[in-house]
Amino acid sequence: MSKINRQGILDILEGYDKDDITIATLGSHSSLHMFQGAKAEGFRTAVVCEKGREVPYQRFNVADEYIMVDKFSDIVNDDVQQQLRDMNSIVFPHGSFVAYAGLDNIETIFNVPMFGNRDILRWEAERDLERKLMTESGIRIPKKINNPKDIDGTVMVKFPGARGGRGYFVANSPEEFDQKIDAMLKRNWIEEEDIKEAHIEEYVLGCNYCIHYFYSGLKDEVELMGIDSRYESTIDGLVRVPAKDQLDIGADPSYVITGNHPVVMRESLLPQVFEIGDRITETAKELVKPGFNGPLCMQTLVNDNLEVVVFEMSARSDGGTNTFMNGSAYSYLYHGEPLSMGRRMAREIKNGIKENRLDEIIT
Ligand code: AMP
Repeated sequence: MSKINRQGILDILEGYDKDDITIATLGSHSSLHMFQGAKAEGFRTAVVCEKGREVPYQRFNVADEYIMVDKFSDIVNDDVQQQLRDMNSIVFPHGSFVAYAGLDNIETIFNVPMFGNRDILRWEAERDLERKLMTESGIRIPKKINNPKDIDGTVMVKFPGARGGRGYFVANSPEEFDQKIDAMLKRNWIEEEDIKEAHIEEYVLGCNYCIHYFYSGLKDEVELMGIDSRYESTIDGLVRVPAKDQLDIGADPSYVITGNHPVVMRESLLPQVFEIGDRITETAKELVKPGFNGPLCMQTLVNDNLEVVVFEMSARSDGGTNTFMNGSAYSYLYHGEPLSMGRRMAREIKNGIKENRLDEIIT
């Protein structure tokens, strides 16, 4: 199937009444601050919501319009797309939108203008592309081990589709790798054919910081919007178990994300933070034109050499942005007001309309 025609999207945008734009997204993930922020910037909001999931949008009263669907993936159905276009919608992508709409559909059949670069979403989803972007940026990432036989220290093992940390494991030797693979097969967390897909990387012992940036295409500048840290089950529950019982109760910890804490970093680490943001966005401009537009997140671990090591990235609004719905220490410093990521996105749309440059930030 052929890719979405850029001119087609620009034609749809051209037909929109710019004084009557709707900001729309799927009711999940990080949509609350997108709706709240869009309303604060004067836009109408529309939630595409699976039946039974509407409660937060009603109770927080952030959505003006409800497009109710049987399942989230129906957002790509022709009738839903038509309703969105009829409302002059610009869609804000987030993790659940990408997961439910599906990358292939976003690239080929989703004919609704979206904020950001729809082509870059694949660079987050495919580990080889993600690594290429990070390697070419020259940022510090965990070393990759190509063959399990070469494991000679602590490694983290990941599988495709195991995003969210379920099915990650730690190993210290080739033998332990084999044992844990067997255990994963028995739990049905992986299938036989997944084994060759195992991604093995240096285990970075350090503290977790997920850094949320906003790249403004209009200003050609990266802003630091906030930082969160993950709260993951079962690994974070395990630290509350006495050491002598930990092996019995949690021999195979998982890393399933259940929530986030807002955090700040040591101030002396911030030069690295800005350098990472600048490098990744510059490289993206070359590799996936026009590069990032809007939110991105670099998930990092900071070791005791005070190196910020990036182990994952999000090329759209990350769930950790929910920790600063009313602004973070950094978004306050930057903007002098408590700004959420959603509101920053909506403001970029507003500026794009004002400057007549919407076509530069929409795909
Ligand atoms: P992710 O699903 O990629 O967000 O990863 C889930 C969790 O696994 C992270 O929050 C980290 O706690 C941990 N993790 C991922 N990669 C590494 C690594 N290379 N070294 C140590 N921990 C890691």
